[in-house]
Amino acid sequence: MPRRARLGEAGGRPPVRTCIGCRSRADQSELLRLVADGLLVLPDPRRRAPGRGAYLHPDPECLRAAEKRRPWPRAFRAPGRYDASRVAAYFAESHALESVAVKG
Ligand SMILES: [Zn+2]
Repeated sequence: MPRRARLGEAGGRPPVRTCIGCRSRADQSELLRLVADGLLVLPDPRRRAPGRGAYLHPDPECLRAAEKRRPWPRAFRAPGRYDASRVAAYFAESHALESVAVKG
């Protein structure tokens, strides 16, 4: 089936993004948005930060996979050695699963 790129318009279906950790696709609302501030990867749970976002399941396993794979330069379209420690801290401090994966 051909896939049409929609620019931000949610025409009934929520946008689907690929998790940079496990590489599976999920509704954008089920994923934690990440943005880069320089080479620092920051969580953007409100999805308000400008710039290019990357998406990750709010799951420590996915973060671990992402840290191994280091998909950041491609995700943010800028080379460099990124620091994802803030994301790890976010996972550790807050109950990311609760704040992101709210259903119904
Ligand atoms: Zn994942």
